[in-house]
Amino acid sequence: MDRLSAERRSANMRQIRSKDTSPEVALRRLLYGMGYRYRLHRKDLPGTPDIAFPSRRKVIFVHGCFWHQHAACREGKMPASKQSYWGPKLQSNVERDRKHQAELTRLGWETLVVWECQLKDSGAVVDQVKRFLGKTEAGSKK
Ligand SMILES: [Zn+2]
Repeated sequence: MDRLSAERRSANMRQIRSKDTSPEVALRRLLYGMGYRYRLHRKDLPGTPDIAFPSRRKVIFVHGCFWHQHAACREGKMPASKQSYWGPKLQSNVERDRKHQAELTRLGWETLVVWECQLKDSGAVVDQVKRFLGKTEAGSKK
């Protein structure tokens, strides 16, 4: 009984923590702090981008390294076991991402992908985002 409740408690804590520090929320906080204003989950755009900047015609996707197979990091490696299970699933995620980005480009939107692992270094992300988005809204001092 004790063991069960301890397990449940830690599951709850995990849930809370992952909600608080989800990569997308972390990036949103950064962007907001930098003075950018944005729209969330525009369903009318291909792939329902996580964060959209309509006046700039730019969107940002926040991708989990595993689910979206970040080629440049360890988390993006295909699991060695159960390849037949994960292989097609992850591959179709990657193909869907590629398709959405191509559609966005065709519609005149620029796309930036911010990877989950990159958010561990917020300074680097801030630089990357600034390069991508340019100046913040008029009136902002930042
Ligand atoms: Zn990564």
